[in-house]
Amino acid sequence: MSVDRTRMRWNGWGWAAHKDDIAPREELWTWLATELGMPALLATPARPLEEVTLPASKLLAPDRTALNAIVGEEHVRDTAFERAFHASGRSYRDLLRLRAGDLSTAPDAVVYPRGTEEVLAVLALAAKERIAVVPFGGGTGAVGGVSGTRGPFEEVITLDMSAMDRLIDIDPLSCTATAEAGICGPALEKALRAKGYTLGHMPDSFEFSTLGGWIAHCAEGAANRLVAAKMATPRGPLSTGDFPASAAGVQMKDIVAGSEGVFGVITEATVHIRRLPQMSDCRAWLFRDFESGAAAIRIAMQEGIACSTLRLSDAEETRFQRAYDTLGKTSGAVQWIGNRYFKLRGYDVKPCKLIAVFEGDERIASSERRRFHAVARKHGALSLGRGAGEQWRKTRFQAPYFRDTLLDRGAGIETVETATSWSKLDALHAGVQTALEAAIRDAAPREGARGIVMCRLADASPQGASLCFTTVFPRLLDGDIDQWSRIKKAAAEAVIANGGTISHHLGVGRDHLPWITQEKGQLGIDVLRAVKAALDPVGILNPGKLLP
Ligand SMILES: Cc1cc2nc3c(=O)[nH]c(=O)nc-3n(C[C@H](O)[C@H](O)[C@H](O)COP(=O)(O)OP(=O)(O)OC[C@H]3O[C@@H](n4cnc5c(N)ncnc54)[C@H](O)[C@@H]3O)c2cc1C
Repeated sequence: MSVDRTRMRWNGWGWAAHKDDIAPREELWTWLATELGMPALLATPARPLEEVTLPASKLLAPDRTALNAIVGEEHVRDTAFERAFHASGRSYRDLLRLRAGDLSTAPDAVVYPRGTEEVLAVLALAAKERIAVVPFGGGTGAVGGVSGTRGPFEEVITLDMSAMDRLIDIDPLSCTATAEAGICGPALEKALRAKGYTLGHMPDSFEFSTLGGWIAHCAEGAANRLVAAKMATPRGPLSTGDFPASAAGVQMKDIVAGSEGVFGVITEATVHIRRLPQMSDCRAWLFRDFESGAAAIRIAMQEGIACSTLRLSDAEETRFQRAYDTLGKTSGAVQWIGNRYFKLRGYDVKPCKLIAVFEGDERIASSERRRFHAVARKHGALSLGRGAGEQWRKTRFQAPYFRDTLLDRGAGIETVETATSWSKLDALHAGVQTALEAAIRDAAPREGARGIVMCRLADASPQGASLCFTTVFPRLLDGDIDQWSRIKKAAAEAVIANGGTISHHLGVGRDHLPWITQEKGQLGIDVLRAVKAALDPVGILNPGKLLP
């Protein structure tokens, strides 16, 4: 297994041994308390596992024996750690529940299959004995997709795919790779790089999320990279064709991408890969405002400039990032010089930072960078160079750990993400921002408390882009789940009202269910239900997710 679960936090992000440099930086915490309109941020530690009461496992002895017979006794686990770790994903709501010791969604047992035949056998048993099954990749999902919900069934098991983590094959002529679905980002990338290839998919959750989870949740671009998949269902194996294109009716792979563990368990997937670029050049620019940065990205996309990453932070995110990078770390004099320089150049009012990555052989990467620079300059941007870009690349996977540290200090942090066409982008940005600010104020713990609402534009295409809002706010300590539900509802309604999708890359899970019928239409939901009925007639797979 490429990830050893026992070394991870059961109620937070990543490795248990991880230490960040944030907690001791008092200057940062004082700044944050002031920003949030709070006199101070309170210590709010999580409850340790030993103090939490875990509901008794309801797995019946004969079912346990039958599972043991399929996967081997050591691969059916029901220790407190295993059940707690698999109780939910890693959304803000999940973290609040886990930290408060609410393990009501812990599965009765966790099963680690080692191959497709074992997955098929577990599903056949579960359908016969009416046991709910929750497929689990890295557990980094942020919409409640891996919570151990039982639906109408007495027993629920989680199928942790992490033992199915082999790179099976590379087809160098077709530039595709086939791997088992439980392989996580670093293991897949390492195996590909060893052969001179890359997948080029690096979500912020890269370290722990898996190939199967990316496809099941339609993570950024994952559906576009999918060539073929094998999915185990209670009715048997489903295999999609691996043609580069086909006009033979609706493509079966289109019911695999975004299936969220509700239609079947993805066991293998074939995806597009690229030859490792000779050069990967990460740079940063500063724009005078969000509108000019967004316009530069739109033009770059429509002129076909090749960037493998483009992320534009709005003024709030740029300001927050700067505080995070410098307060309590960099001397006041250095900060003063930086501020002075940007002021002199006229980038001190609403500066917005953009990160871009150019890849290929040296000639191509440099030429695309120059083309982008020309567009950025035309829109008033100042180049910050390679150092600022590389700094982002070096530290980007540290950011998820910051959520745990914030939660320890009585503050909340969560993202709301969406996408729309360029013509609706400005209205969507303004609408969601206003809704978030108002909802945070309304649900604040005290008069004058407020949140920081930041936004990032990414995943741009010639037609549109995604917007990812991150908000940091003071928690209402005696009602923090309800507080977030109110904020999320306001944001989701603003997303729908302004022509955005309810999710650009996080999926539906449980958390986006209230809005999914509005997006798909009742007939669309009926079609999905019919697919579910055909593949999983008893309805054991991931009850209560994706389908209202
Ligand atoms: C801090 C943080 C940062 C994140 N950053 C990003 C980001 O930058 N980009 C992005 O796209 N997403 C991001 N996410 C969301 C999350 O990482 C993605 O949704 C990811 O695709 C989930 O992968 P996973 O392997 O962890 O899946 P899991 O969380 O284990 O599962 C997600 C869903 O897929 C199903 N599933 C998992 N494996 C299988 C399988 N083999 N067969 C069938 N169904 C399966 C589960 O049942 C569940 O419904 C982030 C989340 C967090 C908490």
